[in-house]
Amino acid sequence: MRLIDSHTHLDFPEFDADRAELLARSRALGVERLVVLGVYQGNWQRLWDLVQGDAGLYAAFGLHPVYLDAHRPEHLLELHDWLQRLAGHPQLCAVGEIGLDYFLEQLDRPRQQALFEAQLRLAAEFELPALIHVRRAHAVTIATLKRLRLRRGGIIHAFAGSVEEAREYLKQGFKLGLGGAPTWPQAKRLRQTVAHLPLEAVVLETDAPDMAPAMHPNRRNSPEYLPEICAELARLMNVGTDELAAASSRNAAELFGWRTT
Ligand SMILES: [Zn+2]
Repeated sequence: MRLIDSHTHLDFPEFDADRAELLARSRALGVERLVVLGVYQGNWQRLWDLVQGDAGLYAAFGLHPVYLDAHRPEHLLELHDWLQRLAGHPQLCAVGEIGLDYFLEQLDRPRQQALFEAQLRLAAEFELPALIHVRRAHAVTIATLKRLRLRRGGIIHAFAGSVEEAREYLKQGFKLGLGGAPTWPQAKRLRQTVAHLPLEAVVLETDAPDMAPAMHPNRRNSPEYLPEICAELARLMNVGTDELAAASSRNAAELFGWRTT
């Protein structure tokens, strides 16, 4: 089984003590390539330093809506500079993590929207996919994507919407990121939705260190759990584990423009 973890925060301090060992264990289990997403200006350099040391790691840079109060107007200009400086670098793979979070009510929505759109425009300018965080904001996200029409699409990370919403994202050229959330028996509605998704819609992810799967509850999530997540989601989708692994890796490689060998 060869897997791509399309969403991690491997640069976070939770991994400082054992990052190399964890990566070695993940690779031994078939998790070959991993995307590490930037969330605020302060972690971009650390993230880039990290991926530079490992050819199977890929970087995305962005300003995450949950850290809205940490972002400054000049950080958007810096993001533009990073993307310009690294344009064409094989380990730069996307703009992200960006998006809209309507679950946390203290986050100012007009400010989130402006920041989101500015970063979608950067994705368009640099012809990169966009990796998007969406909580309780599918309608407005879909409307925004319809208006801006990104040529390379992207991924709706930790997708938890409806089958209808899934269809709208697919029409805009987006894939749906699935990880630990639908492995939980309590997530009944999401599990039903996942059962209806076509194989070409799905990319696998962990969101490590967050969103631990049901088989490793209450602990740090890790890319090494991706094979088990894949097995459980394949069961939900009524396909073989290898079939889902192959399809999701193919979908991710195609989106990021990576050669599949
Ligand atoms: Zn994330």
